[in-house]
Amino acid sequence: MRKIQIITLFPEMFGGVLNSSMMWKAQKIGAVDFRMINLRDFGLGLRKTVDDIIYGGGDGMLLMPEPLFNAVENAKQYDPTAKVVLMTPRGKRWQQATAKTWADSDENYIFVCARYEGYDERVTTLVDYQVSVGDYVLTGGELAAMTVIDSVVRLIPGVLGGETSSEIESFSDGETLEYPQYTRPEVFRGMEVPKVLLSGNHGEIAKWRQDHSIKAE
Ligand code: SAM
Repeated sequence: MRKIQIITLFPEMFGGVLNSSMMWKAQKIGAVDFRMINLRDFGLGLRKTVDDIIYGGGDGMLLMPEPLFNAVENAKQYDPTAKVVLMTPRGKRWQQATAKTWADSDENYIFVCARYEGYDERVTTLVDYQVSVGDYVLTGGELAAMTVIDSVVRLIPGVLGGETSSEIESFSDGETLEYPQYTRPEVFRGMEVPKVLLSGNHGEIAKWRQDHSIKAE
């Protein structure tokens, strides 16, 4: 069973995503085990402080190193060889090919979700992978971590219903987007399903699908 631990100040954000659909199924069939770690539990002092002002000036606050180091060390006690994944706009852009590599590997992961203006840079000494989900800034690492986790866990063998269904999805070759698809009715508000898809001619259908798969920009 693959183990995924998540360090966050907002563990409640994950409930809906991890307990629905494929993530729920993945846990039910024993493919994955999720463990939430509340960074606040590792905060300092009576107020459980996790952030402080930024050296050199600047607006906002940064996550301090000590609570994050202690949280990661706690996660490592539970799973000593797990890889630490830091969610950051400075990371490597997340891609379907990496999701597949991680799904097919035997690695376990500890996701670190930052908040505020981010984290003290010394935290990166703990980290195996720095991942960005795109060229935009989110309020925190939680949505980014959920995106990465979902894209990996659904590809763990046995999680998706049709074992081949992930192989013909968008980006599975790194660049091609899936062809358009239709279901019943044949005519909806005057819009018709392409005739070839109703023909039963598998060769023609395959050709149409190939012709209508486009390259991602
Ligand atoms: N001050 C940072 C900057 O300009 O790069 C942005 C900090 S952001 C408000 C807080 C946290 O959200 C980040 O440290 C990171 O953990 C997460 N985050 C925001 N955007 C992200 C992205 N595109 N990919 C991954 N994580 C992201």
